[in-house]
Amino acid sequence: MPNWLKKRALLTPNRQAIIYKGETITFTQLYQAAYEMAGKLTSKGVKNKQFTAVLLQNHLDSAVILLALQLLGVRAVILNNRLTADELIWQIRDSNSVFLLSEERFLEKLSNISDSLPDLPIFKKEELAETPIEGPLIIDEIELDDICTIMYTSGTTGYPKGVIQTYGNHWWSATGSALNLGLHENDCWLCTVPLFHISGYSILMKSIIYGMKIVLHERFDVNETLNDIRKEQVTIMSVVSTTLTMILDYLQEERLPKSFRCMLLGGGPASLPLLERCVKKDIPVFQTYGMTETSSQIVTLSPEDSFRKLGSAGKPLFPSQLKIMQDGREAMANEPGEIVVKGPNVTPGYLNREKDNRKDFQDGWLHTGDIGYVDEDDFLFVLDRRSDLIISGGENIYPAEIEGVLTSHSAIKDAGVIGRQDDKWGEIPVAFLVKKAPVSETDIMDFCKEKLAKYKIPKKIYFIDEIPRNASKKILRRELRKLINE
Ligand code: ATP
Ligand code: MG
Repeated sequence: MPNWLKKRALLTPNRQAIIYKGETITFTQLYQAAYEMAGKLTSKGVKNKQFTAVLLQNHLDSAVILLALQLLGVRAVILNNRLTADELIWQIRDSNSVFLLSEERFLEKLSNISDSLPDLPIFKKEELAETPIEGPLIIDEIELDDICTIMYTSGTTGYPKGVIQTYGNHWWSATGSALNLGLHENDCWLCTVPLFHISGYSILMKSIIYGMKIVLHERFDVNETLNDIRKEQVTIMSVVSTTLTMILDYLQEERLPKSFRCMLLGGGPASLPLLERCVKKDIPVFQTYGMTETSSQIVTLSPEDSFRKLGSAGKPLFPSQLKIMQDGREAMANEPGEIVVKGPNVTPGYLNREKDNRKDFQDGWLHTGDIGYVDEDDFLFVLDRRSDLIISGGENIYPAEIEGVLTSHSAIKDAGVIGRQDDKWGEIPVAFLVKKAPVSETDIMDFCKEKLAKYKIPKKIYFIDEIPRNASKKILRRELRKLINE
């Protein structure tokens, strides 16, 4: 395939590509900026096929650096800037990255990194601005099987793994999404999610592949989000449950403009009360299921189905397939089992993890470690991670469902549920809660009795100050387990 950004700049040179802090850059200007950046990187010795780590914040320069690496065919190991220096060092070592590109803002972390990795050349974007341009040797053609990016999983279940994402993975992810959502001439995607996650990076890829305008924010800010949805006539936005809740709270009686057509909701389970609030407010929510390994969403539910299939993640995108496996056979309709997926957007494997690759990939099918079921109409319902499942008296309990109910209580700010060993039942669910208003254990129990079957009601409640979450804001249930074992 021809080089994406070069081709895009040739096809629609004057179309708007990225809007950042009121500044607009066209595809020609974006190509020019990425070309110059590629020249600066070349003069620093960065070369085709090398693994180069990047630690950046969301801004225009980051998009330019990421695209410059693609122009050179450099494999970008994209680091999560919320990680600690130790976590970053671990990933830089694990991926054998030969350079680190970063910026002044992360000075403290960078100094810790260079203490541990004194031989790793670190180039900050501020310094690159002054660097002369050399060459550069731009890749005219890209191989779809070539490695484009490495992104580490969030590390919710253990040590993160470096997911290999090829150009083909990103291509098919963007194509699969367009075949599902359609591509409108006036489409504009708001990116407030990090570019270091597949959620953000995939928006950048869609901009280049579709020729679509994106609005880039440094971080999620509810006020700026609503301003830009109106001002820039945003039509699509990627959200997670917490940001969608903030938007709903902020909107109060107001509505989103009619031109806004899609809230793509992913990253984790969506609670039913949240989805019901969106239905009431006519917010077009597309629930999605995906992971770093599937280069963004792989299963999506359209609003037209969301009333009758509330809570479902939908059906696999056109290029992808899905099945549910239970005891080595394909599960029946409505029978829970492990979610197994296949498709050209699915990673070929984890970097330097032969053992995991043999275990998790069989005949091109990726075993996700998530539990779900497919109903009689082929709609996927994600229940939880296999490792978080609680089995109580032979009944399966999914913490995510209980957490959804608990956080819908007006006095509860946050909730985490785990299983505790129990002589009679094997395991029983217990809840950790963060209050936002005074509330007693009995109030919570009474509330749960109305909404949950008896065996799912937490048998003990612990009030704590904060639910431990990782850099992706996912609940670290292993930390909660430590709290009851202490
Ligand atoms: P690790 O693999 O290191 O434990 P992680 O799985 O949290 O980390 P990500 O790739 O960021 O890393 O997250 C993908 C996971 O998020 C999915 O495997 C699934 O568990 C969860 N998830 C994503 N979408 C949904 C959804 N719609 N409903 C429920 N869970 C979801
Ligand atoms: Mg995972």
